[in-house]
Amino acid sequence: MEDLDFLSDYYLFLKEKKEEGKKVIGFISHDNIPEELIDAAGFIPLRMIFAGNDELMDASHDFLPPSTCSFAQSCIGAFSIKPSDYKFLDLVDYFIVSNHCVSDICASEIIAKYYDIPQLSFYVSYTKTDNSLKYFYLELIDLKENLEKIKGFEILNQDLMNSIVKYNNFKKKLLDLSNLSIPGSKKLELLQKAILFGPEYLPKLEKILQSQESTQAKNNSKPILLTGCSIFINDYLNDLIEESGGNIVFFDTWVGFNYYSQIFDDNVLNSSNEPINLLVERFKNNIHGDHSVPNFLETKISHIEEFSKNYKSRTGKKLGVINHIIKFCDHMSIMSSHLKNRLQEKGIQVLNLERDYSRANRGQLSTRIEAFLEMM
Ligand code: SF4
Repeated sequence: MEDLDFLSDYYLFLKEKKEEGKKVIGFISHDNIPEELIDAAGFIPLRMIFAGNDELMDASHDFLPPSTCSFAQSCIGAFSIKPSDYKFLDLVDYFIVSNHCVSDICASEIIAKYYDIPQLSFYVSYTKTDNSLKYFYLELIDLKENLEKIKGFEILNQDLMNSIVKYNNFKKKLLDLSNLSIPGSKKLELLQKAILFGPEYLPKLEKILQSQESTQAKNNSKPILLTGCSIFINDYLNDLIEESGGNIVFFDTWVGFNYYSQIFDDNVLNSSNEPINLLVERFKNNIHGDHSVPNFLETKISHIEEFSKNYKSRTGKKLGVINHIIKFCDHMSIMSSHLKNRLQEKGIQVLNLERDYSRANRGQLSTRIEAFLEMM
């Protein structure tokens, strides 16, 4: 299990920022929340990427039934019990309520209401028509105006542009990280820390990339592409996969590819002086998110197929796919059989791994992962 000491550093990091007069804006981690806008206001975006044990999950049951997705439950639980590692949550000034899914809205509203955190709204259309793009533009303007009210100053176009460029460079480095042949656990740890600390983590990341000091993945481990739901901070799933002889070589999840794939081309950045329109363009081009993107499933299937083929020709090894489904996450569970059937027709083996965070499941999960890797 990963060491959580860095969360104390994160607390100090946020505390320092607050002493400089910055506000901390929390939100449940999915795509389409424009962190650049928060950064341009001089504030700190805090993504909720903490989930993985019973304690946080169970602590939400005063508010939502256990039939809510375990990640959303854990987000509430983190505010409810605030274990010592999570004391930085005391520093959250505002919470964004967005509609990635029903669980996201419910959990975000509960956090804002019952933990007395002023709410900001950012709703995203479920379609991608011209009107949806106009709506997305209006939501960006609305969020910008609300952030300006909090800040007391206008967010200048140049400031927003600078933030977009800063995050773009940061995501490019994460893309470089994803290409390293280091163990999946190390890659995930770096991804999680980078997403949490944001572009301020860049110098550390560059150092690691330059030195390539991290250990190489074991040669005899079975390569895995993880798709579906993300693995969050303090989850043991990656340990189970590595203990069973597997190694995740590609994180096709929100904490992973979905995040760093949203990179602007330099020509696009240099030719635009309307940064809000760039954010709309990114929403339009985000074909890998699971927020009702047209042809989402087909895109996912061809993306996995292409990655799998390239991996085989590069390494000579066949890739297995673990489709991680957090219990009661409709976005992922609803298409899991179809995804599995379609990929298996193409000769790619898939394990649909549905689970919540209860410790009691660990043995059973381990057996299923071992059996899958054996079969590969
Ligand atoms: S239901 Fe799925 S998409 Fe929604 S909060 Fe849970 S993990 Fe995220």
